[in-house]
Amino acid sequence: MADYKKPLPRPENIELTKPFWAAAKRHELVVQRCKHCSNWIFYPREQCPICFSQELEWAKASGRGRVHAYTVVYQPAHPAFQDEAPYTFAVVQLDEGVRMATNIVGIPPDQVKVDMPVEVAFDDVTPEWTLIKFKPAGT
Ligand SMILES: [Zn+2]
Repeated sequence: MADYKKPLPRPENIELTKPFWAAAKRHELVVQRCKHCSNWIFYPREQCPICFSQELEWAKASGRGRVHAYTVVYQPAHPAFQDEAPYTFAVVQLDEGVRMATNIVGIPPDQVKVDMPVEVAFDDVTPEWTLIKFKPAGT
């Protein structure tokens, strides 16, 4: 559990993304899906980027994916993350096909590999906020 005294920047809890953050707090990963063409959509939007339908729903994702790309952060852009450095910033492609920017945790940064299977890890950074991160699958 993180130290709550750190001045962590917070995600903006705008109306569109409230279901995502509420699910994260329950330790569930939900992603938008288009009711018309069934495509998974991430980042959250008002309209399907494939068929332009506005009938989107939030659906539970498998929580499984693979590392699409990553980098190791030694000098964070925000001082609140200095204690965590070095850490792995990554783009993970979920089994559903969408990609999300995240961190890889539970493994030293120099052992992370592209295409490595990962699964969701929920990081309760404050009592109000849980961030979606990923760890090596099966750990
Ligand atoms: Zn669609």
